[in-house]
Amino acid sequence: MGIISKAGIQPEANPFALPQRADVVIVGAGIMGCATAYYLAKRGIKSVVLDKSRIAGQQSTRAWGFVRQQGRDPSEMPLAIASNRLWLGLEEELQTDLGWRQGGCLYIGHDAAQMARYGACLETSRQHEIDTRLLSADEVRALVPGFETPLIGGLFTPSDGQAEPRLVAPAFARRAAELGARFIAGCGLTGIEVAGGKIVAARTEQGEIRSDHIICTAGAASWRVLRSLGIFLPQHQVRGTVARTSAGPSVSAVACIGGGIGWRQRSDGSFNLANDARVDVDITLGHLRALEWYMGPLLEHYRSFNFKLNGAFLTDIRQRLPASETQNNGPVVGVRDPLLPANDADIRVCLARLKKALPSQRNVQIVERWAGGIDVLPDGIPVLDAPATPSGLMIATGFCGHGFALGPIVGKTLADWLTTGQPPMNVHDLRLSRYAEGDIKPPHSLF
Ligand SMILES: Cc1cc2nc3c(=O)[nH]c(=O)nc-3n(C[C@H](O)[C@H](O)[C@H](O)COP(=O)(O)OP(=O)(O)OC[C@H]3O[C@@H](n4cnc5c(N)ncnc54)[C@H](O)[C@@H]3O)c2cc1C
Repeated sequence: MGIISKAGIQPEANPFALPQRADVVIVGAGIMGCATAYYLAKRGIKSVVLDKSRIAGQQSTRAWGFVRQQGRDPSEMPLAIASNRLWLGLEEELQTDLGWRQGGCLYIGHDAAQMARYGACLETSRQHEIDTRLLSADEVRALVPGFETPLIGGLFTPSDGQAEPRLVAPAFARRAAELGARFIAGCGLTGIEVAGGKIVAARTEQGEIRSDHIICTAGAASWRVLRSLGIFLPQHQVRGTVARTSAGPSVSAVACIGGGIGWRQRSDGSFNLANDARVDVDITLGHLRALEWYMGPLLEHYRSFNFKLNGAFLTDIRQRLPASETQNNGPVVGVRDPLLPANDADIRVCLARLKKALPSQRNVQIVERWAGGIDVLPDGIPVLDAPATPSGLMIATGFCGHGFALGPIVGKTLADWLTTGQPPMNVHDLRLSRYAEGDIKPPHSLF
């Protein structure tokens, strides 16, 4: 295409060239980056969204798909509630199917200790006036007919729901692009230029973009981006495996944790299935970084972690040698598209647990499985902040395995904050400086 003028057809500027200037540069095109680009574009602010690998190629398209307020850390609850309101109208807002089902979130209680924990969650929900309630065993069975694993009750929030992770971040990206945002895949941020305490430019693998604003939504690699500014973030990564089954008889629209598994059934009858409370930790030398921040939480939550000394250890050492991918890409980009292996043994166990809990599903089979690198912080809550220095930097990262549900409100919050200079809600507990101040609480859960 070209522009028609008196002189004939003028070639357009190369549409693939990196823009020299942007209102905002967003680093990372997961759900946080894509939603932020969308809400900024709605306000007429055109961002450039960089991703070192693919648009929505990491956590945001690998999640279970639970959209819950239930069981949140009190510091996250206002965000979760505000996000829930956005989810209700999101398919209409983005003009596309997101697989949204408001079937509620159910945690099944198999013993008194679990029910006591759910009682504490109920208290948090009550303080925030959401519709969570404790259920009797019969009420649970009415919600999940045919559930046979022994149980004594449950915790249920009818206003919670589920959505399809593979649809949501790409839908935000599509609508943002239609409104003027520019997405550049395969282009990592390599550094940030600061002058007089202010952000002035993003350095990328394809050149420099001048901008007064950079938003770091780089998921599990955010610590690398921030380290380039001399900012320490005690962020690590664990590996979560998920599977999709073939379609089975329709049981329930709840997003459920019970019987040793986390599962949700789509309207086509297929399940998303995962271990309810266990992830893999592939031990590497990288874990020495920030280890001291995790000693307490790890001891308390050790049952949730399956520590593995496997090929990841050697891979990590190789990445430290000359000519490795990390050395070639540089320390901010690191490995471009980390492909994590699914835990097949765990998935077999989960499938057996599903069939035991729901005998009606005896014929379903695993049709697909994948793993995702969950970014964790030692206090189990994210960083959502616009630190005073350097001015122009915003950060949304460390969502500890529950950021998919928060994506819409995080994007909207950052867009409001950037345009008004003030956060639209109190996010003090999620400030970055809590680590430097040593003001962190024990985690509600680490992922
Ligand atoms: C197995 C699993 C199950 C989960 N289940 C749920 C759930 O049921 N409900 C829920 O609410 N949450 C869930 N989560 C958590 C949720 O998926 C995440 O919290 C959320 O997707 C984080 O989004 P993000 O945009 O911060 O990160 P990501 O989606 O990981 O995106 C970060 C992007 O940054 C890019 N990037 C990194 N460094 C650079 C650089 N230097 N330059 C340019 N780009 C860069 C990466 O390539 C990546 O695309 C789950 C996560 C996993 C892995």
